[in-house]
Amino acid sequence: MAPTKEKLIEQQTLQERCLQSGIRMTNQRRLLANVLDDSDDHPDVDTIYQRCKAKDKFTSIASVYRTLSIFEDSGLIKKLDVGDGKARFEIKRTDHDHLMDVETGQIHEFKSQQLQRLIEEIASEMGFELTEHRLEIYGRKHGRTACRCYEIKVY
Ligand SMILES: [Zn+2]
Repeated sequence: MAPTKEKLIEQQTLQERCLQSGIRMTNQRRLLANVLDDSDDHPDVDTIYQRCKAKDKFTSIASVYRTLSIFEDSGLIKKLDVGDGKARFEIKRTDHDHLMDVETGQIHEFKSQQLQRLIEEIASEMGFELTEHRLEIYGRKHGRTACRCYEIKVY
């Protein structure tokens, strides 16, 4: 079965989810949550820092790192490795996977029920119940044909 084109929209904002998780919202944390809420790509730390700085010139890179690790430890955001040595971040949403175009650096998001079933099966054969999975695949597009992936978003 082909990957679905289901939208991966999260109803709640990151800020709301932070509050629900009991994270004390300082101005810096609120700012960073807003920046991530407004980002519809997979920004790296530097990009996040620039976006925060555009809204508050007193933002420090150290506080961006600190806040990102608090959000990550609380399971609200996810770190991605796209193979270029820079960690990318996204707000945790419905399980989905990423395909990296090794030539352009674009990140294509996809979701596949077939893959989901296979992973559940593997976990189950190993005596586990699947709670989460993370998969990053890398590829080079054939020739100059348009992207045929069932992307949900392309960055
Ligand atoms: Zn993603």
